Amino acid sequence: ETLNKIIDIKGTIRVFCRVRPFLSTDKRRTPEPISSELDRVIVTSSGSRKEFGFDKIFHQEANQEDVFVDVEPILRSALDGHNVSILAYGQTGTGKTFTMDGTTVQPGIVPRALKQLFQQVSSDKSFSYTFSMSMLEVYMGNLRDLLASKLALRANETVSRCNLNIQTDPKGSVEIEGLTQVEIPDFAKSRWWYMKGRRARSTSWTNVNEASSRSHCLTRIVISRRGDTPEAKPKISKLWMVDLGGSERLLKTGATGQTLDEGRAINLSLSALGDVIAALRRKKGHVPYRQVLGFKYGHVCTFILKRLGINSKLTQILKDSLGVGSKVLMLVHISPCQEDLEETICSLSFAKRAK
Ligand code: ADP
Ligand code: MG
Repeated sequence: ETLNKIIDIKGTIRVFCRVRPFLSTDKRRTPEPISSELDRVIVTSSGSRKEFGFDKIFHQEANQEDVFVDVEPILRSALDGHNVSILAYGQTGTGKTFTMDGTTVQPGIVPRALKQLFQQVSSDKSFSYTFSMSMLEVYMGNLRDLLASKLALRANETVSRCNLNIQTDPKGSVEIEGLTQVEIPDFAKSRWWYMKGRRARSTSWTNVNEASSRSHCLTRIVISRRGDTPEAKPKISKLWMVDLGGSERLLKTGATGQTLDEGRAINLSLSALGDVIAALRRKKGHVPYRQVLGFKYGHVCTFILKRLGINSKLTQILKDSLGVGSKVLMLVHISPCQEDLEETICSLSFAKRAK
């Protein structure tokens, strides 16, 4: 309750940073280039010092529980009827998948959120809730349904891979035509579907790292909340949890052909996303979109997208979950290593634009 209020006061977009701990494969050098304080990350390179502020920083030693404590209030907002987007951003290898999925012993945001949603609604006496789940992958502008049955996939390969159409209804709500949506009655069942989606993601690739670095993986929970009286209309909201494609620029790695195209597709959609978030931040507070433009909930984003000439699949999908009335949590992941410094500065600068 109070935490929710704080979020409301602070605005609809929050940006957190998570610094990955050193791995045994990392080369450690002293002095270390990245240090973090309470609410800022400090980068020291060749004598210069730059500071980047965040709403919250998770230092190298922060565990999954520490992160989830600060994500939890936004789940409450989703149950209250707001559309919510939780986005993991960063260079490949900085821990996006670790944060979102985690491991069996150290579960990440998605499994924890599922558990939490069922826990919260079990004690809610004023409303009844139903949840449904979808998972999809966005790769080079194509959508792939991760929960479609194998049979459906084989019979209709092209449909499930590429041609899921994105539609916006008159109320501004985004729908993906033909996307599998499964009811999840309890946590166990939701976990089962989630594992299935994760497996579908990795089996479509020759190697799992390739999969996670070149595509965006989106999990959507549609929450339907109904009041006590039978005539009360249900309130529908969407919770998106997104493991974004690696943000690294590809020139450095000497990528060519297909790889370069993939990289461009990712960079294009990430910068589109950054533009939208930056625009929302900038305009917030002094342009009353709803009155001035007569737009309702969610339409503000469509407007900004059009103005910026952005047509990225990712932002189209998230359109009604990034705008007015929705809550966005961006988790920017960075590496503590000297050799990643250039990319780290890019990620921190992206975050600065979002803030
Ligand atoms: P990304 O999805 O951004 O490419 P991963 O989540 O695959 O990165 O993380 C890369 C490696 O670092 C994995 O082996 C992962 O287990 C490890 N790792 C990342 N973040 C953490 C963390 N906070 N604690 C422990 N290990 C981590
Ligand atoms: Mg990953």
